[in-house]
Amino acid sequence: MSAQLIDGKAIAQTIRNEIKAEVEDMKAKYGKVPGLATVLVGVRKDSQAYVRMKKKACAEVGITSFGHDLPEDISQEDLLKVVQGLNDNPEVNGILVQLPLPDHLDDEEILGAISLDKDVDGFHPLNIGRLSMKRRDHLYVPCTPKGCIELLDRMGVSIEGKEAVVLGRSNIVGLPLAMLLLHRNATLTICHSRTKNIADVVRKADILMAAVGRAEMVRGDWVKPGAVVIDVGVNAVDDPTKKKGYRLVGDVAFDEVKEVASAITPVPGGVGPMTIAMLLRNTMDGAKREVGME
Ligand code: NAP
Repeated sequence: MSAQLIDGKAIAQTIRNEIKAEVEDMKAKYGKVPGLATVLVGVRKDSQAYVRMKKKACAEVGITSFGHDLPEDISQEDLLKVVQGLNDNPEVNGILVQLPLPDHLDDEEILGAISLDKDVDGFHPLNIGRLSMKRRDHLYVPCTPKGCIELLDRMGVSIEGKEAVVLGRSNIVGLPLAMLLLHRNATLTICHSRTKNIADVVRKADILMAAVGRAEMVRGDWVKPGAVVIDVGVNAVDDPTKKKGYRLVGDVAFDEVKEVASAITPVPGGVGPMTIAMLLRNTMDGAKREVGME
């Protein structure tokens, strides 16, 4: 392997330790403990698992979590009331509505009802809008894109002036990630399902961010020698040798690309742990702003 492994799990643990120390400091100086409310609608197994992981992560660093598990058939009006109650609750610094919501609910309206000061997922339309404007302060940045940039920073990878290619333009990953790279003065290209000659475009990248949800789409000969590769994708592929019958792979063919890149994230153990660490970071930062702590 020529590429350096970007160990997201270890970096996320370092960040969690830092947050734990900040929570203790806040408690001692201000008598305040940060709080995160999770709102889960319905019984999707994957959503339940994500919410469980987030609550566990909160407990580990000393952040209080407030769980709201709501029935699948909750009305828009009642869900808005839950969000409003959390907006008004001074113990809650962050509100996370687990997506996707059932089809009968209007997620844009729900996300837009979250107080800007508590939008720790960064999906409020105003927060996304600010992210898309030059020199606007963005209170909260969506956790997965923020985690990708944090990985580069903690690995000492400079972004300014680099050719960055983002694969994917979703509202939760590709688009905000592209905006963040632009804010950091990368020269940016965004690819999507209609991009022509995608391998040629990817070959220009000094920094490649893959978020398409296509198992091992990026091959070794797509990557410029020495590129830094961040793989956001999480895809289950059949594997009869595994107990569960499948294994998780990224959007990047790891074994091929690691021979060409200078640094690469694994899947699992790369971006995934960073997403949760950034949720804790955002919640902590919200609480710090509330008490005026530097
Ligand atoms: P998404 O909403 O499905 O968006 C996928 C994007 O990829 C779209 O912009 C789509 O283009 C583009 N795309 C799809 N097929 C393509 C192809 N063959 N060539 C080029 N572009 C293609 O997915 P997402 O929510 O952004 O998630 C992307 C991946 O990241 C998934 O594997 C997901 O599981 C993973 N993820 C991981 C984390 C984490 O914490 N590790 C968090 C979130 C997501 P169009 O816009 O043209 O349709």
